[in-house]
Amino acid sequence: MMAQYLKLKEEAGDCLLFYRMGDFFELFFDDAKVASACLDIALTARGEHDGEKVAMCGVPAHSAEAYLARLIKAGHRVAIADQVETPEEAKKRAGSKALVDRAIVRVVTAGTLTEESLLDSRSANWCVAIGEAGGAVAVAAADISTGRFEVIETNADALSAQIARLNPAEVIASEASGFDALATTLRPSIDFDSARGEDRLKQLHGVATLDGFGQFSRAALAAAGGLVAYLDHTAKGSLPFLRPPQCSHANSCMAVDAATRESLELTLSAQGSRKGSLLDAADRTVTGAGARLLAQDIAAPLMDRTAIEARLALVQRFHDDPILRDRTRSALRAMPDIGRALGRLAAGRGSPRDLGQLRDGLDGAWQLGETLGRIDAVPPLLAELAPQLRGHGALIDLLTRALVPDPPVDADKGGYIAEGYDAALDDLRATGAGGRRSLAALEARYRDETGIANLKIKHNGVLGYHIEVPSRSADRLMAPDSGFTHRQTLAGVVRFNAPELHDLALKVTQAGAHALAAEAAHLEDLTERALETREAIAATADALARIDVAAGLAERAAEGGWARPALVDHPCFDIVGGRHPVVEAALAKSGERFVANDCTLSEQSRLWLVTGPNMGGKSTFLRQNALIAVLAQAGSYVPAASATLGRVDRLFSRVGASDNLARGRSTFMVEMVETAAILAQATPNSFVILDEVGRGTSTYDGLAIAWAVVEAIHEDNRCRCLFATHYHELTRLAERCDALSLHHVRAREWKGDLVLLHEVSEGPADRSYGLAVARLAGMPPATVKRAQAVLSKLEAGREKTGGLAAGLDDLPLFAAAAEQEEAAVDALRDELAALDVDALSPREALDTLYRLKSLANEP
Ligand code: ADP
Ligand code: MG
Repeated sequence: MMAQYLKLKEEAGDCLLFYRMGDFFELFFDDAKVASACLDIALTARGEHDGEKVAMCGVPAHSAEAYLARLIKAGHRVAIADQVETPEEAKKRAGSKALVDRAIVRVVTAGTLTEESLLDSRSANWCVAIGEAGGAVAVAAADISTGRFEVIETNADALSAQIARLNPAEVIASEASGFDALATTLRPSIDFDSARGEDRLKQLHGVATLDGFGQFSRAALAAAGGLVAYLDHTAKGSLPFLRPPQCSHANSCMAVDAATRESLELTLSAQGSRKGSLLDAADRTVTGAGARLLAQDIAAPLMDRTAIEARLALVQRFHDDPILRDRTRSALRAMPDIGRALGRLAAGRGSPRDLGQLRDGLDGAWQLGETLGRIDAVPPLLAELAPQLRGHGALIDLLTRALVPDPPVDADKGGYIAEGYDAALDDLRATGAGGRRSLAALEARYRDETGIANLKIKHNGVLGYHIEVPSRSADRLMAPDSGFTHRQTLAGVVRFNAPELHDLALKVTQAGAHALAAEAAHLEDLTERALETREAIAATADALARIDVAAGLAERAAEGGWARPALVDHPCFDIVGGRHPVVEAALAKSGERFVANDCTLSEQSRLWLVTGPNMGGKSTFLRQNALIAVLAQAGSYVPAASATLGRVDRLFSRVGASDNLARGRSTFMVEMVETAAILAQATPNSFVILDEVGRGTSTYDGLAIAWAVVEAIHEDNRCRCLFATHYHELTRLAERCDALSLHHVRAREWKGDLVLLHEVSEGPADRSYGLAVARLAGMPPATVKRAQAVLSKLEAGREKTGGLAAGLDDLPLFAAAAEQEEAAVDALRDELAALDVDALSPREALDTLYRLKSLANEP
């Protein structure tokens, strides 16, 4: 046995191996130690191997799913080795001592789950592969729980942003690639060969050419091929359901890098939960599929204006018609998740209940299609979706006739095929039922004949049907001519058999077994029939999800007084009465009101510098505007009285280091790296929010960096930008940067108390209110008083020297400074290029070195 185990374990590689023994999956050696710690189950030992005790633990096969869930959550992968023949077959093959043959039948990984209990119904479960070819990079992503399959062309710079958008459960890359940092699983490089990838895709979808699915680059084929190969590997040859790949380019979405997603808490809050995120604040969907689609929409705001407007028009239709909205939503609410049911059926892990869900879901979709088919003023997107809701009539009829109203998850016990669907099955069931009635009659007769009042006919797995009497009454039946045969004597009872019982029992068990087999055959047949139309069913599931998203966003908009954004083609950003949906909801809980604020950016006034006291609302203001851009391009109404904006191609959000301290990174370094990325990537169509950048270092350094960054953004990137800062000195930039304007969050001191108004106004803040904030925070009065004295001294000093920013006014303008730098470097370069190193004498070489050094030192 150990030899077989070790062979399978080698095949399983770094996966934990679940080794089937009887009713248990056992784990051995280190696997057992890891699993017993993770699952909190007893670690035992079994035999010896190489002179050492073999550690072992096990989980019951019937409840293995729950244990799997915990192992997967903890980041493990599990290979399942099951018996692939029966003990009888093994004996036939290799004699009475034969070991039952086992094989790895599946590798369970986070990215390849389909089980309802292992998945979150409200989020997609992406398995992602990275492919590269000829310098280009692509990402392939599959959610096998629903069959979604996407291929995205991107580039090395935007790769991590793409992966962050998908938030995948698993990332696969070739072991020969340089993507180790992004990948969770490395696979052989041969799997990522683009030519093989093309063949795999063609084979998978049974087509001679992929042209029908779109244009694939070699990198895309490499990624898709690598992914399909991996899925094939985990499913051990029975590939899960994948729909035709949808091809897109990274440019078709707003580019949002991982740091920005984190800082804006788009789909996950800073605590890593859905709660507290923008997604959570916007989500009023009523189905799992709707919630999954909304998460995707928010993670990938669109660039195409027509597509955005199409979504918005559908939201508006539901927004303006509350009755239609309510009807649609209550219809959707009652529908099962047909996308995931289909995924399980296609993966060969379907149950009678999944078929029941298809029946109910498709029937619900049909009826919703009827309702939506009758309305007027149908927006184009709905006109496209509505026909996809109907058209499964034959399948619905079939499933309705074939299945009981509430089919079970477990097919083993039967009872899911409806009466009247199959006459032969009905007969078998009648025989079984008749047999059970006859058994009861027989029991009564035996009691009569023997005079033993508590004689019983019982059933168990070992003896089958048998007669059981208390020991004290057993003698009568023990007599040789009693007609009963002794089978077993236990503590208080004795068990017998009898010819008549034997015959009857045979009839009952055979009828039962035949009925079960008949049901199983129907299950297989029905599953096959359903899968014949899986493309169409998946399309129906998609249509339902899109409708749910639109109706949910309409509900949210109506609830919160949100407005339909107007999209324009020039880079403006004009928000009236904007709000932060998450902060607003949090304030509402404690009965407080959110103060709405305007934000007006245009080509002439691109950059707002926002100052004001701590806790005044700067960060909130910055973020709410970024969130409004995300919502608008995702096709949602936005939390504002009105909003007009030019599409944002890239969104960046950076928060000064000390706000990030909780996450314990080398924060200033991170802040600088991330800021550098903005300066390198932001275009005039981008939107940037910078929240106290530079605060992670000393005052002088911080001010200097903040100053330079503002200048660079203003002069070079020329993007729309909101910059919050506590460096009052930066307000001097307004004099030299004509598209920069000054704003502040208002505060008042009233009877010695600080009142934060959370109102954004024009002009710089008159003072910083630091001490007032300290008092507000509960700092002891004596300390505040002392600080007051220190402050007066400092301020007096500032008057004399001109303060922190003294002399900055003489600084040459940013553009001029940058040019000068460039020129100096070029002189050096020219000199170096002209040098003929081989022709130099040692003496000349030294002189040249001195000359170059002095050139480098020139201002
Ligand atoms: P700052 O960045 O200026 O220190 P924040 O934006 O972090 O301030 O806001 C601090 C707190 O003030 C928030 O947690 C919120 O409770 C409250 N707040 C912010 N903006 C508003 C607003 N517009 N209306 C009402 N309360 C607000
Ligand atoms: Mg702040």
